[in-house]
Amino acid sequence: MASGEASVSSITTFDERSQIGNLTGAESSPLVPDADFWYPDGTVVLLARTKVAFRVHKGILADHSTVFCDLFAVAQPQGEERYAECPTVNLTDAPGEVKYLLKVLYRPRRYYMPDQRVSFAMVAALLRLGHKYAIDDFVSSTLSRLATCFSSSFETYYASITTEGSPDMTCIPEDAITAVNLARLVGEDASMILPSALYTCCQLPSSTLTRGVISEDGDVQKLSDADLDLCIDARVRLSALALASAVQRCQFRSDQPNDQGTEREGSARCMQAFCAPYLAAAASRVLAGTLGLPNPTGALDSLDWFVADSTRGGLLCRVCAESIREKDKEERLRIWKMLPRILGLQVKEWSTADQRKI
Ligand SMILES: [Zn+2]
Repeated sequence: MASGEASVSSITTFDERSQIGNLTGAESSPLVPDADFWYPDGTVVLLARTKVAFRVHKGILADHSTVFCDLFAVAQPQGEERYAECPTVNLTDAPGEVKYLLKVLYRPRRYYMPDQRVSFAMVAALLRLGHKYAIDDFVSSTLSRLATCFSSSFETYYASITTEGSPDMTCIPEDAITAVNLARLVGEDASMILPSALYTCCQLPSSTLTRGVISEDGDVQKLSDADLDLCIDARVRLSALALASAVQRCQFRSDQPNDQGTEREGSARCMQAFCAPYLAAAASRVLAGTLGLPNPTGALDSLDWFVADSTRGGLLCRVCAESIREKDKEERLRIWKMLPRILGLQVKEWSTADQRKI
């Protein structure tokens, strides 16, 4: 993993550390020892954003992280600031993120079992810190979890994004912004996450997309300017595609009713006269913007709701309803396979990643 150099630079070194005296003075909030991670026999104090102190063990951190291992290998300068009789390391990471890291390092059986459903926030923190501090296990396990939501399988992706997550983790559409940023941070290893995460960003309200979302620690997660540009361009393409595809899905395909000829092999016969004109009118309503498509950029959304409403109202026969459902599945899968191209991404093996039918 190519994270070492970037990681070291983002830790404040012993020499650069802020002075604890000032931080605990009248102008600043006092340091708060964390209630859960304050071991009396701890050998180092991690100061998260100079707010929360964690008294933990150098050996545990160094065992998992080459970045901490290298940091502790450097001799501590004379007269170095100490806190609770321990050397201190000032971290720029949010206290909540550091706590997730320590939970998994110290108490994995309680907080991070493979079959345990965890929060998106936890997965995001572990991936970011795992990458930053070169904890390879964190990176691989969190990428696997992220892929249960931002998947290269359409079936998996759509099930998770419409039900607030997978059996492995919670996830709501707004989390896609953080997922994109994490995928950009990790690089090639996370490339399969990007298409579905960026597509999900394209479905967010413009205000959310431009202003970002607020994390558990109060940080604002926003897309980079480049990814914001990418989403704005992709939304135009997705809108056009959503309209064209909806018209395709509404086409009348059954044989005409009361046809005296022989049925074609594999085809079914429409059971009522007004299916064809009804569907022609529906296609016109798609183009006029009056069919009621719930999301203009939702090119992957299903038209099942339209079929259900029409069938319930007796406006579509069973045969035509089934025909549209089939076309709907076919079109959604076709668009899914095109997704990297629509988003302007190069993703190897995307088109063969999902061989399953939706
Ligand atoms: Zn029909």
